[in-house]
Amino acid sequence: MVQSWKSRLSILRWDFSSVRGICATLLVIPLMLCACHLLPESRLNPPPFSQHSQDEESEESGDAFQYRFSILHRTVGADGILWRMDPSDCPFDTVQAEEVIESALAKWKLPGTCSFRRADEGESANLTIGWRGANHGHSCVSFGVSSELLAHIAASPESGDATDWSIHLNTSLDWTLEKTTTNFPPGGLGRNAVSRIEPQLGKVVVHEAGHILGLGHVPLKGSVMHPIQPEAGSTPSDLDLDGIQSLYGSAEEAGPDDLEICCVDPQGKPHLAAPIIRGLAPAGRVRVHLFDIDDDGRDEMVLLGMGRPTDGSGLLILDFGSGALLQKSTGPFPGLLAGDLPLAVGRISNGDRVLAQQPQRKQGGYHAVVYPAQGPPLRALSAGEKWLSLAGGGGDEDGDGQLDQVIGGIGQEGMADLDGDGIYELVRRGSADRQP
Ligand SMILES: [Zn+2]
Ligand SMILES: [Zn+2]
Repeated sequence: MVQSWKSRLSILRWDFSSVRGICATLLVIPLMLCACHLLPESRLNPPPFSQHSQDEESEESGDAFQYRFSILHRTVGADGILWRMDPSDCPFDTVQAEEVIESALAKWKLPGTCSFRRADEGESANLTIGWRGANHGHSCVSFGVSSELLAHIAASPESGDATDWSIHLNTSLDWTLEKTTTNFPPGGLGRNAVSRIEPQLGKVVVHEAGHILGLGHVPLKGSVMHPIQPEAGSTPSDLDLDGIQSLYGSAEEAGPDDLEICCVDPQGKPHLAAPIIRGLAPAGRVRVHLFDIDDDGRDEMVLLGMGRPTDGSGLLILDFGSGALLQKSTGPFPGLLAGDLPLAVGRISNGDRVLAQQPQRKQGGYHAVVYPAQGPPLRALSAGEKWLSLAGGGGDEDGDGQLDQVIGGIGQEGMADLDGDGIYELVRRGSADRQP
């Protein structure tokens, strides 16, 4: 039993801190979404799968762009989420705790975009916030096997709560209402130090509320979505707001790092059709390819960073749903593909996609990864495995390790059917001129 919890947790850590692969797309899909940590991520995650060696990347290009946000899901009714605090096991005066939670959630108040409001007496809430012990339900993930887990979000019925969503706070930690100065030993945190960590209620609620709104972790200082609490910001930053606006929209025009999703009218004139994807694709640093990477009949935005792989850079996939609305991101995967080499797309016999590149190296051959239709983990193409090119050249139909055609590469931006309705959208970068 303990073993199964352990293995489930390690899957969660991998999925949500590093791969961010699994997600719920709507309120109605019950799924554990996230576990948030106190300890540095290097202690928690296996090393990232990395195939493409760093020295194949051009040295002069600098570090690859670190993506500003990641997306777990899109929340229906994000503007006006009604919350209620469950007072059981609350380590504080409940009135005080509710005040701290209320002012933390007020930091997510963006008129017309997202907001939280405390449910009145008798009003039905969408979100329960409460303290839970180590094993707090058959389906909700345990905090017990891993004392560094400080909080998580859950959906009903796994959460055991009556509301669609829940934020569960680990009752075995020494919570504080105010910022306290805890000095960490220089050599890192030992096992025994965990019990001395005093998570701040307000800061953790801001982070968990970001998850409720659909944001995943990013390893960037300043973001409230940093997975390690001491590194996370306490107020949503531009990084976090870019994610929120990419999901739920804003009135600001697109800048050069942004991507517009347009429908094209019969006169050929583009009109914005969905929220602008903010801050993910600076020209010259991130390539934007459009193709169906998971064989679901819809095109995805496949972003590929240029430069030296760093944490939070590399290959990032954006998935869209009906109305070309952003639904989730998968990745990023640093170091899998080179941002400066042309990319070919193909498929193996079961339909899984192959992403292939031809490094300029003496031994010849090519480099290819398989992106399974069901999502991560990605894997290297096996020796002798045959694949058919779909676009950009390449292909190895006899599996001899030699490409059938030179990889000329697939194009960037342009037309794509992001929602799979048979009508193509135009995806283009915002222009500097159009920036306010
Ligand atoms: Zn988290
Ligand atoms: Zn829980």
